[in-house]
Amino acid sequence: MGSESVKVVVRCRPLNDRERALSSKMVLSMDVHRCQCFIKRSGTVDEPPKQFTFDGTYYINQSTEQLYNEIAYPLIEGVTEGYNGTIFAYGQTGSGKSFTMQGVSEPEAQKGVIPRAFEHIFESIQCAENTKFLVRASYLEIYNEEIRDLLGNDTKQRLELKEHPERGVYVRDLTMHTVHSVGECERIMEQGWRNRAVGCTLMNKDSSRSHSIFTIHLEICNTDAAGQDHIRAGKLNLVDLAGSERQSKTGATGERLREATKINLSLSALGNVISALVDGRSKYIPYRDSKLTRLLQDSLGGNTRTLMIACLSPADNNYEESLSTLRYANRAK
Ligand code: ADP
Repeated sequence: MGSESVKVVVRCRPLNDRERALSSKMVLSMDVHRCQCFIKRSGTVDEPPKQFTFDGTYYINQSTEQLYNEIAYPLIEGVTEGYNGTIFAYGQTGSGKSFTMQGVSEPEAQKGVIPRAFEHIFESIQCAENTKFLVRASYLEIYNEEIRDLLGNDTKQRLELKEHPERGVYVRDLTMHTVHSVGECERIMEQGWRNRAVGCTLMNKDSSRSHSIFTIHLEICNTDAAGQDHIRAGKLNLVDLAGSERQSKTGATGERLREATKINLSLSALGNVISALVDGRSKYIPYRDSKLTRLLQDSLGGNTRTLMIACLSPADNNYEESLSTLRYANRAK
């Protein structure tokens, strides 16, 4: 597969109130026209900045609208034509993953990638001629390498990953919900979001240590001039990854440390899969190394499109985490 089907962009948020109060220095800068990102440890005069190049760079003052139109739009368009697509938000807790994916309602330009994708899909459906669509949604969480249905009757129940010779990898008993509008999609997503396993770390009390995958399954039925029906299927995976921070900084011990180890396992497995796909020479893609990558096997590689949005804090106290995010994103390139 060519690297064209995997795109990696980075987005840097502004300093937050806490960082401004601490007089934090900015260590990140970007040349958005050249898609380059620079990181320089503060207080070092003779150490040159480290430089990285991506498919897109979005700095503090750029909007989700711009990011969506430039980079996410073609992926969603592909889904409405029957291809699979996956969008990941990667980064440490507090770096802007939710801001980018869920977004805010004001200003309009900062509306998230997810509501924009919902609107895009339903607009395409309304405009299509001689075509019928069936839209279904599912929402699951991977927490400690265990899968739970965020929209099921029993959100505590662990679900099993199964492999079917034709269907491929699937989650047994995962519920599917037919949706007819953007509003219904949003309601279902909110309902599932409330069922996520949320815990406390020192960095952000709402930080989530689970990976969640909201999937829109599209069945597209075209009727040709002879009255024959042709059915295609596409799906869009919107993946909110757990925070990528290392355990030392989060003060994790005991159960939290065990969780963190498993989170890092899924994140490193994902990095390995994407870099093997981008490399193009690897015959073996290590999908089987984590639940996350097994589950997304049919939506990563092959005839699919993948977008990774790596989110960054610009503050000097997050230098190590930001550098590690840039290295992760760079490997996926
Ligand atoms: P994460 O989901 O990675 O933990 P959040 O999306 O919750 O991080 O972002 C942390 C804080 O930073 C939030 O208060 C959010 O509103 C703010 N923020 C993140 N990205 C931006 C941005 N690009 N512009 C303005 N504020 C942002």
